[in-house]
Amino acid sequence: MTDIALERPALLVDRLEVVYAGTRAVRGVSLTVGKGEAVAVIGSNGAGKTSMLKGIMGLVEAKAAAITFTGQSIAGTPTHLLSRMGIGYVPEGRELFRGLSVAEELEIGGRLLGKGDYAARLDNVLKLFPRLAERRRQITRTLSGGEQQMLAIGRTLMAGPRLLLLDEPSLGLAPVIQDAVYGTLETLRGQGLSMLLVEQNAYRALRLCARAYVLELGAVTREALSADMMDDPAIQAAYLGRH
Ligand code: ATP
Repeated sequence: MTDIALERPALLVDRLEVVYAGTRAVRGVSLTVGKGEAVAVIGSNGAGKTSMLKGIMGLVEAKAAAITFTGQSIAGTPTHLLSRMGIGYVPEGRELFRGLSVAEELEIGGRLLGKGDYAARLDNVLKLFPRLAERRRQITRTLSGGEQQMLAIGRTLMAGPRLLLLDEPSLGLAPVIQDAVYGTLETLRGQGLSMLLVEQNAYRALRLCARAYVLELGAVTREALSADMMDDPAIQAAYLGRH
């Protein structure tokens, strides 16, 4: 019984469909994220990456044969309950409450925690992002893009997710700031956090995650170990051109 439970993937998506007013943005996408595994979904602009994550999170209308989190069906579960169950979502564009301070944002992320847990979690997040510790009282709208991305991840981590879904964490950031954000994601991966990372920046994503899917026009066209993808001339030409 225990062995079977251990083998349950953190996330299983079976034939997910997202349709907007006649446009099939996600076309029968199936994927898995093993427990403690970091998995990338790469694809160009408009491939359906954001729609796929929103479909999983219940933020857009979606259909699927199954969506499970650690073996439990989550299809149709409201977004706020998914976060309580242990699924953290860091949306593209960060969606911060821009009038609040860094400390207040983190407080929102940890609002369901008891006092002791809250203090311990906050301590962990500020250790992961010392930059946020320095800027605790700063209003979020005055943070740099990189600091905002760190805060978006930090806020999600405050809830203590067991699975993290990330939408283009490198978007709009200078390479040196991407290094910092990805350095933290590597630490989280090392701690065994299960992750599904969606990126246009295939190079970053493939270096972080051992396994990856390619999404094209809403459908998965390739699934392989990241190392094999990086060696593949077709993937290099389509997605790794600038590196
Ligand atoms: P990007 O990297 O540019 O964010 P993406 O891979 O995340 O792209 P999506 O944002 O999921 O792609 O978009 C997939 C398709 O669905 C696109 O053709 C887009 O125009 C369309 N689309 C996205 N959101 C909506 C919406 N709310 N209503 C109608 N069509 C939409």
